[in-house]
Amino acid sequence: MTVRPILSIGHPVLREVAAEVVVEDIPGGEVQSLVDDLIETMREAGGAGLAANQIGVPRRIVVMEVGENPRYPYKPRLPLTVAINPIITPLDEETVVINEGCLSLPLRGDVRRNVNIRVDYVDRDGLAHSETKRGLTAGTWQHEVDHLDGVLITDRAAPQSLSTWTEFEAHHRDAFIERITAFVARVGS
Ligand code: ZN
Repeated sequence: MTVRPILSIGHPVLREVAAEVVVEDIPGGEVQSLVDDLIETMREAGGAGLAANQIGVPRRIVVMEVGENPRYPYKPRLPLTVAINPIITPLDEETVVINEGCLSLPLRGDVRRNVNIRVDYVDRDGLAHSETKRGLTAGTWQHEVDHLDGVLITDRAAPQSLSTWTEFEAHHRDAFIERITAFVARVGS
């Protein structure tokens, strides 16, 4: 496992549509060590998720994990998940505005996300999954899969909602946490 440098907004790979992984290649060393590096890099950076193109590899692989996360103390737990070739399907019209951050840029911003989604993906053992996700967990999935399509939060955020982490902490954090904690209590995730 190697901690890899995380690319920042402006790097062209972040704007590429990542290529699908051939399922037969999943057991091979190239994909497996890429997955290991993504997990290690995400954990080292304290992120909730990381997409392969954030470390310069335009392949459709994301990893997600939320434990006790000081960057996002309001996020519900999300066990370590490796999603290869993930596809997101919204299940209804319900949306929520989530103030999101990203390891590839120094800002946070308000992004509208679907609350109820289905995710179809293959894990690192090559097993196919079809699961429903809800609430902030669904938001994390949408953020990571956006990366694979070359989309960043600055593309989706209301421009006037953008703030540095310092200014977010000083001026917006309390109101956001109050609203989002009530949301998490209502939807359960
Ligand atoms: Zn991101």
